[in-house]
Amino acid sequence: MYAIGSAVELALQHRLPRALIVSDSLSVLEALKRGKFNSGTDPITLRTCQLFHEATTVGTVIKCLWIPSHSYIHGNDIADILANEGRYSGDPPNIPAGPQELWPRFGKELKHSWTAEFFDICAHKAHVYATFYDGSALSNTSWFNKVDRPRRFISTILRLRSGHCLTPHYLHRMGLRDSDSCDCGVTGDIVHVFFGCSENFSASAELYAALSSHRFPLPINIYEAIFSDRLDVLDLLIEFLVKCRIAL
Ligand SMILES: [Zn+2]
Repeated sequence: MYAIGSAVELALQHRLPRALIVSDSLSVLEALKRGKFNSGTDPITLRTCQLFHEATTVGTVIKCLWIPSHSYIHGNDIADILANEGRYSGDPPNIPAGPQELWPRFGKELKHSWTAEFFDICAHKAHVYATFYDGSALSNTSWFNKVDRPRRFISTILRLRSGHCLTPHYLHRMGLRDSDSCDCGVTGDIVHVFFGCSENFSASAELYAALSSHRFPLPINIYEAIFSDRLDVLDLLIEFLVKCRIAL
């Protein structure tokens, strides 16, 4: 595209009445023939189209001809040799990049800054989330996209991770309960529900043993289990809640 633009420029500089531009790039010639622009059109294509328009305005008739590469056309072979030589000589040409070339880099930087800001906010407003969520695993799809479990399972894990679950501690914080104490008299937060409550003693012991037998790293931190990407670990947590008839 750049070479065709330069050829048109040359025809304009020399005030040629007619010019024939021969190219082996069918895709470029078809793009010029379509003449469609949108926000993704690169600046080189825009420049070439503008030059064609200028040629029409000053009365220079320019035709384009496609020839398959290596067709033993003398001028085309010379252009090919010069193009290959030019690739390795001198400074790289100062050619502006288009949106399509810039977008991958921009997208990467955008994701990087979004992630940094996300964890900065988390550190102030959701300390547990910022501590235990694996930021390097941030992807464009949800973790539960390929998890074959009921909606209730997914929502319970999400609530546990976000901390917005119906523990006495959370309900008290939201002003929905007078006290943050569990029925057993101790602060009813997530750690207490899983491993501290005397009401769930035997189920807690079974959960601890099951997590150990599943080779979950000891000593067990309940938040590491809640934020685990292992489905067998999440299954054990949900089994515990079902067994203890706890709805979070
Ligand atoms: Zn309790």
